[in-house]
Amino acid sequence: MEKKFNVGIVGATGMVGQRFATLLDGHPWFNVVCLAASSRSAGKTYKEAVGKKWCMDVDIPESMKDIVIMDATGDIDKITSKVDFVFCAVDMKKDEIKALEEEYAKHECPVVSNNSAHRFTADVPMVVPELNAEHINIIPAQRKRLGTKRGFIAVKSNCSLQSYVPAIFPLHEKFGVKNVLVCTYQAISGAGKTFETWPEMNDNVIPYIGGEEEKSEKEPLKLMGKIDGDVIKSADAPNFTAQCIRVPVSNGHLGAVFVDFENKPSKEEMIEIWENFAGRAQELELPSAPKKFLNYFTEDDRPQIKSERMLENGMAVSIGRLREDTQYDYKFVCLSHNTLRGAAGGAVLLAELLAAEGYMD
Ligand code: NAP
Repeated sequence: MEKKFNVGIVGATGMVGQRFATLLDGHPWFNVVCLAASSRSAGKTYKEAVGKKWCMDVDIPESMKDIVIMDATGDIDKITSKVDFVFCAVDMKKDEIKALEEEYAKHECPVVSNNSAHRFTADVPMVVPELNAEHINIIPAQRKRLGTKRGFIAVKSNCSLQSYVPAIFPLHEKFGVKNVLVCTYQAISGAGKTFETWPEMNDNVIPYIGGEEEKSEKEPLKLMGKIDGDVIKSADAPNFTAQCIRVPVSNGHLGAVFVDFENKPSKEEMIEIWENFAGRAQELELPSAPKKFLNYFTEDDRPQIKSERMLENGMAVSIGRLREDTQYDYKFVCLSHNTLRGAAGGAVLLAELLAAEGYMD
């Protein structure tokens, strides 16, 4: 891509915002010119505002540490006049986030969001670029509703889904998946936490993550849905049921999956589909796309969080332990990095897709 886009990070001081900052440092297409957070941080430099909250394993990017933070709600005019689009990951009430993101869009500033607020707005595409890239074609309908020429909102799905939906999606297209039962084992960074800020998680497991099971059951059906006129209609199958458990892991969500098919494939057919799968992100050779999205491991004790979460810079999905089950057709496990592929990395990839397809022009 010849053009470089000026971008802002709204929620730059948060855990996902920090990931955006590190991923966008030196990005070939995107140049960070603006950082925004709450009024508590506004007016401070990024380095001052983020202070001891910085929790990435690399330093604050040199090019961003002296940028003065703007107020994400009070400075919308100023922010949108400086950027071509924003990434958004803020910790606010759902209705406030909905209104904030629409406000940016109405200022003709596209929003690529990590927040859940607009995931079920019918004309907002929720996209995993390898799976349902064609959902971005709903954007003209959304622009019509918002009365904008450029502005729109696009979102990514919840981090919990990112391990198992990519594995199920291509199987469903070919063999028809009827039922999915999944138990997710989710890292503490998914709650914006570290072991320092959440010491109770040392040597502990918590069998509850607020709202997560509903998202894990409902969002896959929107990803598998189709554009119908001015809305995206969710699919009505497969049936998903989920239990989501918080485990003492810094980064990486693992899913244990049981699956039933309309037409039961062989194990070899399933592995072949996974190993040969490529989506629009690979076709377009987007800068953050993994070369190989789905990776099957034959060893009995893989994939593991520590050895596999950083596969292809944390953007690939690892699958293993495929075997027949006594109640379902098959069971297997899968794994993805929750703050890379599952959060900021997935949003950067979505922005690359939108830029490559001309929606950021
Ligand atoms: P976080 O670490 O708590 O960061 C929250 C950010 O929101 C900070 O930059 C904060 O600014 C800003 N903020 C808070 N109140 C604000 C206000 N009134 N106006 C403007 N900005 C405000 O949260 P996070 O973990 O990064 O998560 C952010 C969003 O991403 C949430 O919606 C979360 O559900 C979603 N998400 C997180 C993950 C994950 O893995 N962590 C994954 C997927 C999605 P100050 O520093 O100034 O307070």
